[in-house]
Amino acid sequence: MFPPVDHAIRYLRRHQALYGDQLILDRPISPAKPPPAQKGVDDRAKLLTAFEEEIRECRKCALEATRTRFVFGVGNPAADMVFVGEAPGYEEDRQGEPFVGKAGKLLDRILAAIQLSRREVYICNILKCRPPDNRDPLVSEVEQCLPHLQEQLRIIQPKLVVALGRVAGKTLLGVEDSLKNMRRQVYEYAGVEMRVTYHPAALLRNPAVKAPAWEDFQAIRDRYRELTGLPPVKSQGASQPAGESTNS
Ligand code: URA
Repeated sequence: MFPPVDHAIRYLRRHQALYGDQLILDRPISPAKPPPAQKGVDDRAKLLTAFEEEIRECRKCALEATRTRFVFGVGNPAADMVFVGEAPGYEEDRQGEPFVGKAGKLLDRILAAIQLSRREVYICNILKCRPPDNRDPLVSEVEQCLPHLQEQLRIIQPKLVVALGRVAGKTLLGVEDSLKNMRRQVYEYAGVEMRVTYHPAALLRNPAVKAPAWEDFQAIRDRYRELTGLPPVKSQGASQPAGESTNS
């Protein structure tokens, strides 16, 4: 066991190797606002709408100049599970909704295969605006945008956060790791249990990851049901998402 100070130094060195001298915290430095206690779905919907109105004209980073739409998030304001992608793509930027392109259609099918829909969960991204040519988010963009996601989670109060893809996973966790490693572990993000799995776009690109991704989503389904008090799914027979063709 490392003493706490050594541990902190090791953590900061690793963080510096990854992100340079900019310190990215997964919680705001100012004292965290308490979660909206005992709020029902209507209260959380109002809070989310008010928050969206507050930030939709955000000009904190250069992406405001190239975005078509600000992509806040979609789904149940009191969802027990929140899926977090990387950033809006071309279709999301046009429509103002996350995961509505090809990868989003596949995400819908995956959700259906685990007996959920996008109306029951909440779906959003780390960045709310599309990076040009879908490049990876910059550290400075993440730094400006992450507090938005943290506020969304504070309002929604989910029981489970699922990061979709390596970029989302490593950005939330502040570590440089492979998806292969991250998907095997259970983490905590902003006080909420968190898992990392494949981005649906990876399944479209690479059929070889469909089987491990399906294992992950079944594990996510089982944990979600456990956390929400739903009975476990009995049969082994739940089939892989329909029409998960790699050419779709
Ligand atoms: N990829 C993402 O990470 N997010 C989206 O909203 C769409 C595609």
